[in-house]
Amino acid sequence: MDIKQFVAQEKLILKSKVEGLKIRPSLLIIQVNDDPASASYIKGKLKDAAEVGFNAKHLKLDESTTTVQLLSEIIKANDDPLIHGIIVQLPLPKHINEEQIKLAVIPSKDVDGFHPLTHFTPCTPGGIIDFLRANNTVFVGKNALVIGRSNIVGKPMARLLLDQNATVTVAHSKTSKEQLDKLLLDADIIIAAVGRPNFIKDQQLKKSAIIIDVGINRVDNVLVGDVYPNLDVTLQTPVPGGVGLLTRLKLIKNLWEAYNNGI
Ligand code: NDP
Repeated sequence: MDIKQFVAQEKLILKSKVEGLKIRPSLLIIQVNDDPASASYIKGKLKDAAEVGFNAKHLKLDESTTTVQLLSEIIKANDDPLIHGIIVQLPLPKHINEEQIKLAVIPSKDVDGFHPLTHFTPCTPGGIIDFLRANNTVFVGKNALVIGRSNIVGKPMARLLLDQNATVTVAHSKTSKEQLDKLLLDADIIIAAVGRPNFIKDQQLKKSAIIIDVGINRVDNVLVGDVYPNLDVTLQTPVPGGVGLLTRLKLIKNLWEAYNNGI
């Protein structure tokens, strides 16, 4: 099953569960930037929510909003029983304390999965695992290589792959080229979350490998992944139209979970 089929199928399931509900799952997206990429992500999230019959509200605050003002909006939403999930769209302006903001969202409504005590799986790694599982991927006895160790992708991805009993290695910027070449040659499942266009291109890979390309890089106004397209492997996710869709799907699944936990 490819990503588009998987996402369409999962959305239909969610839509059928929501039909007839008096109170619908409801998401609040708070934006404090004028970043065009953020605006486009938010548009996608609003569209997904509407498609499955969830409510989603977009609160756009001025760039001059202070940490205290933003905290006060989050506290209001934390206390509102009709809001089930809260997202604070990143990046935030430099004068706002991002860590303080992430901690302010109550864990039971933290559908992005950023809070250390969150009730939810972070959307990108969680969406990837859901997709791999739906494709009956075998994890036991397999070498999974995660390239990148950020708090929102690489680290939680490695943990989720371990939960599936894969044998997991994490590479990062201090991993040497020689080490990485060896790890790639041995890898059965490769998760590229580096943020460098076509970072994997000419290295030797197993033909049986599965490559999940998380990277979103803009080159001459075109979106490209961390992996050169159409390598000779068993499965490679495209960019665009790949992991981004899985991330968005996981968000609405987390919102559905938040709604059910709250009733
Ligand atoms: P970060 O910049 O936070 O992390 C990048 C990671 O890549 C770091 O851990 C860094 O290592 C590692 N790295 C950098 N250079 C190398 C190198 N030469 N060799 C090996 N590792 C290297 O990025 P994110 O994790 O937030 O995102 C990664 C990519 O995924 C970006 O392109 C981002 O846009 C995209 N993304 C896509 C999403 C989607 O839904 N499709 C969601 C989130 C992100 P070190 O820690 O040592 O610096």
